[in-house]
Amino acid sequence: MAIPYIPLKLILSYFIIPRHKGKIHYMEIKPGDIVRLKKKHPCGSYEWEVVRVGADIGIKCLKCRHRVLLERSVFTRRVKEFISRGQP
Ligand SMILES: [Zn+2]
Repeated sequence: MAIPYIPLKLILSYFIIPRHKGKIHYMEIKPGDIVRLKKKHPCGSYEWEVVRVGADIGIKCLKCRHRVLLERSVFTRRVKEFISRGQP
């Protein structure tokens, strides 16, 4: 029996598209948002509060209160999920 022909494009899209779909291209960030980051802070916490929104995003660790400024692109890459949203 012949192996059915599968276009290479279809095979590639199977691997590539799901990854693109999961990627957040635009993220609305508001002060007061509570986010969970992919990486753990040295203090052991994953949760941060957004304290400043601009060209850079200022976040504060919920456990040790340490503040960090991140570029918007870096921030969006590090966020795993939003736990709660701040007021607009
Ligand atoms: Zn911390």
